[in-house]
Amino acid sequence: QVTDAKGKTFAIATDTTFAPFEFRDGSGNLVGIDMDLIHAIADEEGFTVDIKSLGFDAALQALQSNQVAGVIAGMSITDERKKIFDFSEPYFDSGVQMAVAKNNQDIKSYEDLKGKTVTAKRGSEGESFAKSIAGQYGFTVKALADSATMYDDVKAGNSVAVFDDYPVLAYGVSQNNGLKIVTDKEQGSSYGFAVNKGQNQDLLAAFNDGLATLKANGEYDAILDKYLAKSE
Ligand code: GLN
Repeated sequence: QVTDAKGKTFAIATDTTFAPFEFRDGSGNLVGIDMDLIHAIADEEGFTVDIKSLGFDAALQALQSNQVAGVIAGMSITDERKKIFDFSEPYFDSGVQMAVAKNNQDIKSYEDLKGKTVTAKRGSEGESFAKSIAGQYGFTVKALADSATMYDDVKAGNSVAVFDDYPVLAYGVSQNNGLKIVTDKEQGSSYGFAVNKGQNQDLLAAFNDGLATLKANGEYDAILDKYLAKSE
């Protein structure tokens, strides 16, 4: 299907380190499920993307101030966000989970967080979830800008635990990132591609159309397999 996005170029913002959705490979190229998806959809629909690797909170701010047309960043479709953004069809199911340093024997549940500091990404669902239970369990939430910095903070012992999306934690643990997962997955929202509410509807329509094509022709599954086969 030919959409109005054909022939246009769109600036798209993303996170910096959110493997396997967006991260730098050994050669410094920005790769991952989100990157392969947006490029494949752009090829399919005949538009061009200019990817800006800004960080999650910065990407959402860039979108709100119209510096970019859309965001693809493992971004959860939440009711709160739907007030200001329009989302594509969901393309990946996710949710939040807690991890600690691999050698930590003390923190096994939320109860063990009393009086401690945990970290989560500024503006993320992980941060909202951690804050929603912080009072009940008596811990403090420290917001940091990206997942790599959060994990380093936990390994350095500045935070005892990190709340992040479970596919991302699972991928990192499978790559021996020095963390281990200690709680069950919390129910979470699926990922969607976002534009500002009522704006760039041509791009949104093209994303949905391209996503449906990739799901039908097997390319969507191939992209997921490419990044997830090793970690499951
Ligand atoms: N899925 C989470 C959210 O949308 C985190 C996204 C991210 O860290 N890139 O809040």
